Amino acid sequence: MIFDFQKKYDIAVAGAGVAGIAAALAAARRGHKVVLLEKQMLIGGLATSGLIYIYLPLCDGQGTQVTFGISEEMLRTSIEFSPFDFPEKWGGKVGGRDLRGNRYDCCFSPAGMILSLDDLLREAGVDLWLDSRVCAVQKANDGKVTALEVENCSGRGVIHAGYFVDATGDATLVRRAGGKTETAENRHTLWMIQRSPAEKLVYHFTDQIHIIPFGSAEPIRTVNGDVRQADVHTDFIRTSWNTAREYYRESYRSGKTDRYKHYPLHLPAMAQLRKIACIKGVETLEDGSEWQRFDSSVGLYADWRRPGKVYETPYGALIPADVKGVYVAGRCISAVGDAWESYRVIPSAAMTGEVAGVGAALAVERKCDATELTAEQLRTELRKNNFKFHFEEVGLNPAEHNNIK
Ligand SMILES: Cc1cc2nc3c(=O)[nH]c(=O)nc-3n(C[C@H](O)[C@H](O)[C@H](O)COP(=O)(O)OP(=O)(O)OC[C@H]3O[C@@H](n4cnc5c(N)ncnc54)[C@H](O)[C@@H]3O)c2cc1C
Repeated sequence: MIFDFQKKYDIAVAGAGVAGIAAALAAARRGHKVVLLEKQMLIGGLATSGLIYIYLPLCDGQGTQVTFGISEEMLRTSIEFSPFDFPEKWGGKVGGRDLRGNRYDCCFSPAGMILSLDDLLREAGVDLWLDSRVCAVQKANDGKVTALEVENCSGRGVIHAGYFVDATGDATLVRRAGGKTETAENRHTLWMIQRSPAEKLVYHFTDQIHIIPFGSAEPIRTVNGDVRQADVHTDFIRTSWNTAREYYRESYRSGKTDRYKHYPLHLPAMAQLRKIACIKGVETLEDGSEWQRFDSSVGLYADWRRPGKVYETPYGALIPADVKGVYVAGRCISAVGDAWESYRVIPSAAMTGEVAGVGAALAVERKCDATELTAEQLRTELRKNNFKFHFEEVGLNPAEHNNIK
């Protein structure tokens, strides 16, 4: 039986990863009644449950900050309960950690990050529902999404809202609404927290407690490389557990160390799949979109891998081409190929989350669809939180960079 939760929200956000949190904050700070639905008992998504722990840069690697707003607020907040700092060049502590060539990034404690993010949600008055999985959507005759079916320990009920944000990381809401998505190849990874006296690792909290990353260059074995399936996720996770078992058994067998000094402390609570599903948007970021001017740009973002590679973010990349009443944010926006690899990380997820939250708020205020709003209407609001949209606004000239393709 499906009952009604008897709750009517202005905006419902599915998924409390960094993108969903940014979306919920942006909408709630405009005075809207916002619900944030999360299937786990933790918030932060991959960034926290996935033990990711590096907030990648807000700058272009050549001294220019390009990403601002809630994404910057989250980076600065993320260190409150952690032993890390960002570089002095970006206003951090003198002697602050220089992670990768003085870029505006930092490490954080996943647990500490959860405490900080929850504080932001509380202050903004967001209604957070943990352990609440979005299972299905309800649509009006014109195809607009009007409600979500949510399952939690109360049972399965309906939540109504004026507008929706899909920040599930794998476009669950859009897929349940019948929208098309694409997927990409993934490879096996395991980032986990361990205690080890011997290892000197990049990602360390203390001399003995650190994150150890295992990785494989081989693509995971799936039917057509498709990871939009539950059995693939289970297999992925159990393979990563096997990697850990073999690693510890071998280190004990070899006599290099023993279980009293060297052991696992925490495994990721989410499958560390990087790219599961992205929507087919009204506009799409793709190979070669870097340094491309989009009249519809709603935010700037710099590639985390290579200095001097900057993107304008087209508004339509957050709007599904085939589902009404929904914005998409985070690692499932419409980005394919190299652009998806670039955008699938924390700073861009938070940036697109804020855009989606503002967009959903405007759509409710003006009683219209995302496609009826102009990018300039969103920019007017985002500018109030220091957003920049085009290269020239931060003093960058694409003509000087086009040879990097
Ligand atoms: C191994 C690995 C290493 C990485 N390293 C880095 C790094 O160093 N730095 C960096 O910046 N990024 C890194 N990333 C990427 C980054 O962590 C994520 O891409 C980013 O955090 C995505 O945020 P998101 O909010 O878009 O999605 P997610 O973090 O996936 O959040 C989605 C949320 O939605 C929830 N959800 C899903 N479905 C439902 C549903 N039906 N109902 C309710 N809730 C639902 C999920 O539980 C989750 O909390 C790494 C990723 C991996 C896998």
